[in-house]
Amino acid sequence: MNRLYQSRNEIYGELYRGLLGLRRLFLLAILCGPLLSGCRSLASGESADILLTGGKVYTFTWDDPAPDGAPAKNAPYSPAGWRPDAEAIAVRGSQIVFVGSSRDAEKYRGPGTRVIDLHGATVIPGLVDSHTHVVGLGEKQSRVDLTGVQTEEEAVARVVAFAANIPKGEWVVGRGWDEGAWANRYPTMKLLSERMPDNPVLLVGLHSFAVWGNKLAFERAKITRGAQSPAGGTIVKDRNGEPMGILRDRATTLLTSAVPPPTDDQLKAYVLAGLNVMARDGYVAVHEAGADSRLMRAFESLAAEGKLPVRVYAMLSARDADLCRSWLAKGPKLDTADKLTVRSVKAFYDGALGSRGALLLADYSDKPGHRGVTGEGAGFDQKLVADMMKGGFQVAIHAIGDAGNRATLDFIEGVNGGKENPRSKTRDRIEHAQVIHPDDFQRFEKLGIIASMQPPHCAEDKAWAEDRLGPERVKGAYAWRALRRNGARLIFNSDLVGSDHDIFYGLHAAITRRDKRLQPPNGWYPEQRVRPEEAIRAYSTWAAYAAFWEKESGVIAVGRWADISVMDIDPLNVGESDPARLLQGKIRMTMVAGQIVRNFESP
Ligand SMILES: [Zn+2]
Repeated sequence: MNRLYQSRNEIYGELYRGLLGLRRLFLLAILCGPLLSGCRSLASGESADILLTGGKVYTFTWDDPAPDGAPAKNAPYSPAGWRPDAEAIAVRGSQIVFVGSSRDAEKYRGPGTRVIDLHGATVIPGLVDSHTHVVGLGEKQSRVDLTGVQTEEEAVARVVAFAANIPKGEWVVGRGWDEGAWANRYPTMKLLSERMPDNPVLLVGLHSFAVWGNKLAFERAKITRGAQSPAGGTIVKDRNGEPMGILRDRATTLLTSAVPPPTDDQLKAYVLAGLNVMARDGYVAVHEAGADSRLMRAFESLAAEGKLPVRVYAMLSARDADLCRSWLAKGPKLDTADKLTVRSVKAFYDGALGSRGALLLADYSDKPGHRGVTGEGAGFDQKLVADMMKGGFQVAIHAIGDAGNRATLDFIEGVNGGKENPRSKTRDRIEHAQVIHPDDFQRFEKLGIIASMQPPHCAEDKAWAEDRLGPERVKGAYAWRALRRNGARLIFNSDLVGSDHDIFYGLHAAITRRDKRLQPPNGWYPEQRVRPEEAIRAYSTWAAYAAFWEKESGVIAVGRWADISVMDIDPLNVGESDPARLLQGKIRMTMVAGQIVRNFESP
């Protein structure tokens, strides 16, 4: 609903209440004249900075779809399909000043107006990746990329090729081998040490829950025969007690902490590189899931210099207690002029399902007697997080297993005010919400908790998720429809760099529950699919709510931020009729706060 419509309703409301005196009625007549004859005359004479015409614009100003995914009555939808509800958008400064037909938009054309003919490209509200780790994305360019490697030999070969120009003695760092898929056949340090004898090598798993290193790396980190596994982590050892080359869960830091950290300037460069990739790929904002003091300094410095290409909604890392306490003292940063918002805290409750670190209520189906990482490995500083919530900060808690999710729901309910007053005022989130016990689905709505979920994880984890969970529990895994049916708010994201952030991959996974090779053909537990409109909203409109931006952003309407994503396919119609085609979709343009951060490319 746009502002004009709202204000008109408010005016009528007052009229009906009969509260108006004559003088106010006179004022109202002056106000209503131009309103009723079309607001555009109010703004005529003021030309736009940018005029987008000839597009298929979906404003998303209609109501939310029903819990089963059926479009709202006022949605531009019929059994024949979706129809765009505008063609043109005028932008002045950082805001949208007009949405409508290309013909009416001509009023906004002036001598200084930059006019872009969209040639029928589709425009939707700005895409948001609401769970990212952008440093990793920027860093990727200076690291060995192991995503997609199938075997140990292939991974080692990539490392050797990459390291050809790296001086002896310097660290070689890589990322992306799949510790979930490889959990039953972990690689060892043998081959890696033979082929890489002169450089310490650290290879981080796709989801950061396991690392793999060579002999020199283990020596540098002083992880020897006598080293003890820390609480909540494992140094994988052979029969003779020698470390084999793999560290899991909390033990991973034994090796990662041995690598010299990037300098402040390097870190800033990584952040900027990562955000530029997101702008290029159609995103107008990221929610950064866990920023420590150093990363916050990088964000704040880029924001102060006016260099953030996309909006950053930073979640403070609860593991950095000093950082959290300092923000608690000064309060959230809500001002968005510099594109940086700080009003959220990220905490971890459990580990990952692939590496069997997620906390389950009953034993892992493929590892009797094991229910995930317990003891000191689970949980977070509850006092600190509760204080942050009371201080007005949203909390976003990583919870994967059904036990982890239940404990997290209990915790948030307790802080909110217990059974009598369970509802969250800070729009708290559970990150992943990956395996939910049937009794707990309805608690998300009851507590006002947002389920922040990753369609790519479903597409990628399906290979082993059922092994871990068995045929019954798996029905509550990645259960988007069950959450929607139970009234939960849902947002979608990539959790990059663990998964590909490509929006078309995300939409396809959400709509079909298939992987990039279109497997399985009918989708994995297809009853949990969402419809295209829900998937797009979970990446835009609903993500805006999660950041408290629903009045400024999330839909294309007058007075909203000019945050827009343009693509070469119509994801609503293609998603309904031929979702496989989504995978060929391309981003054409990205606009953030009225600035074009990816130039329009003609189809
Ligand atoms: Zn994450």
